[in-house]
Parts: sequence; C-alpha cells; structure tokens
Amino acid sequence: MRRRRRDSVKGRKKRLSLCRKQAWKCAICGDEMIWIPSGYEGTPEDNHATTEHVVPYANGGSFALTNLVAAHYKCNHDRHARGRSG
Ligand SMILES: [Zn+2]
Repeated sequence: MRRRRRDSVKGRKKRLSLCRKQAWKCAICGDEMIWIPSGYEGTPEDNHATTEHVVPYANGGSFALTNLVAAHYKCNHDRHARGRSG
C-alpha cells in the first residue's frame, strides 16, 4: 500500500523556512503570502505559500533548499500554465 504524496513534516518545515527567509514575500510577484497548514482539504487560496523549484525536478533540479523558493499558489500555477499552449 502506497501512501498518498502529501506535505510531509520535513517538506512543511522546508516550506516554512523558505517563507521566513523571504519574509513571506512571493518569489514571483513579491506580494505577501499566507500560511495554510498541511492537511488542508479545501480549495487552495491563491495567495497561500507553496514551494517552487528554481530548476525543475524534471530538468535535474534537486529538493535542496538552494533550489527551492516560496511562491504563491496562484503565481506558481500561472508560471507552470504558461508556455504550454498559449
Ligand atoms: Zn505571487
């Protein structure tokens, strides 16, 4: 039985430390981010903090803190949505 991929304690700590490092400012737009704890079941808020890979994992990027930034859910999503078909 495989566990569903979720925000692990380690991942949550990483996300929190990134947010603090960036003074809760989004790495993409610079606006303030909000914190939603892991296990949150509802629709993600546009301005909640997510972690974003600087170099995508698919391109050989690592999960090291040096390759991660904190960004809004919305900004993160927008960035990934761009360049696909538009
Ligand atoms: Zn943002």
